Amino acid sequence: MATIVEPTIFELSSPGRLGVTMPASDVPETALPPKNLLRSDLPLPELAEVDVVRHYTKLSKFNYSVDDGFYPLGSCTMKYNPKINEDTCRLPGFLYTHPLQPIETVQGNLALMFEMQEWLKEISGFAGVTLQPAAGAHGEFTGVLMMAAYHKARNDTKRTKMLIPDAAHGTNPASVGMLGMSVVTIPSDSRGNVDLKALEAACDDTVVGMMLTNPNTLGMFDENIEKVVNMVKDCGGLMYGDGANLNALLGIVRPGDLGFDVMHFNLHKTFSVPHGGGGPGSGPVGVSQRLVDYLPSPLVGIIEEGDDDLEPLYGFVTPKHSIGRMKAFHGHFGGGLVRAYTYISMHGPDGLKAISQFAVLNANYLQARLRSTYKIPYDRICMHEFVMEGQFEGSDVRALDISKRLMDYKFHPPTNYFPLIVHEALMIEPTETENKDTLDRFADALIAIAEEAKSQPDLLHNAPHSTPFGRMDEVKAARELVLCCWLPENYETLK
Ligand SMILES: *Cc1c(COP(=O)(O)O)cnc(C)c1O
Repeated sequence: MATIVEPTIFELSSPGRLGVTMPASDVPETALPPKNLLRSDLPLPELAEVDVVRHYTKLSKFNYSVDDGFYPLGSCTMKYNPKINEDTCRLPGFLYTHPLQPIETVQGNLALMFEMQEWLKEISGFAGVTLQPAAGAHGEFTGVLMMAAYHKARNDTKRTKMLIPDAAHGTNPASVGMLGMSVVTIPSDSRGNVDLKALEAACDDTVVGMMLTNPNTLGMFDENIEKVVNMVKDCGGLMYGDGANLNALLGIVRPGDLGFDVMHFNLHKTFSVPHGGGGPGSGPVGVSQRLVDYLPSPLVGIIEEGDDDLEPLYGFVTPKHSIGRMKAFHGHFGGGLVRAYTYISMHGPDGLKAISQFAVLNANYLQARLRSTYKIPYDRICMHEFVMEGQFEGSDVRALDISKRLMDYKFHPPTNYFPLIVHEALMIEPTETENKDTLDRFADALIAIAEEAKSQPDLLHNAPHSTPFGRMDEVKAARELVLCCWLPENYETLK
């Protein structure tokens, strides 16, 4: 059979070929922007509509997503996103409103935001919540800003150090660094808890507080959590909880009850808002009583109480010592808040609790099935995720090879090489939305791959074999990023 090469969208381009024919204008023409702002050298292809549709449809098939298959990307909570969320966030009353409309005309939207603040307070045990932050890292920045404002208001100006465990997500030290504070790394002990001796040595009157992820990124719930919280508070510090991933805690443990002062939520993880394609994220922040006056402004509040016949009037309120605005308008309303609101109301309190119970059950089931094949360095009952080593004694197969080979078995790889404290880490978070059949197929694949690692290691070194593109040179790809599959002739001059 002859090989007939399919042309790229750029090679299909033909001068004068049109995708859209505009009708003759029936309104006056307006002037173009000044000449120096216009360019005519962009080599955009000229194509018919059908060529463009086929191009993008083809590209979309290169993708892997939660709607394609299992996605055990640890710490990212790639759970299934119920499609009813898509219906509600497209309701015209949500979709076609503008944040500058008079509040009387957007009472429904404000009611949803108010209720969302209340629900997140109830879920987390905090006294106040802001919905503004755009994502988890932005929530961290907001939370740490409030911690700094709290110390400053008390003239406690010596405090410049944040304690962060070595298992923390990289955004924690990054957020702290952006505020000019320094980071003191606290090691984990052999059971994956905060090392209490190291914590004791680090606690003094220069500590802003501690940023703790619990369960941490090893999937371990800290067995000494009350001690840790008390030690930080005894030296005058505040406790920050990284609640990006609440998938193990819903309806079971409330960080506010454990003594945390501030925590961000990732609605785009725990509460099923889709992510991974660039957003929109949503990272509300909850605070304890002593930080409520520092919350960003505005918050949604009731500005006129209702009664039996009258709905309350919702509007905006400003906390007394607010750190100010963290985001244009009110956070990611439709894409984040409406979807998460739908998810929470579809589940209710019992349903939320069931989410966490099944998330923990699924992770433990997989851990139990893989324990005899892969080394699990922190091997005890895990929460929503666990971390195993992607290496076998006497073999040069690495975690990356195992992950690439999983793609041939039609699974998305787990998180690789994180947390940093596990050698050749493979971090697996199945989430509650997978059934036992899927978990078994995944475990079977990993066990088969461990066999292949012994009998035909090169099969793994060169994987994947079944994807549109094979093994990439990842270092080169990161250093010399080219995001288009075709470069125009005048590429150099365009750069
Ligand atoms: C995802 C994650 C973050 C960061 O959240 P973004 O929305 O990606 O900024 C922080 N901490 C933990 C533990 C996470 O899993």
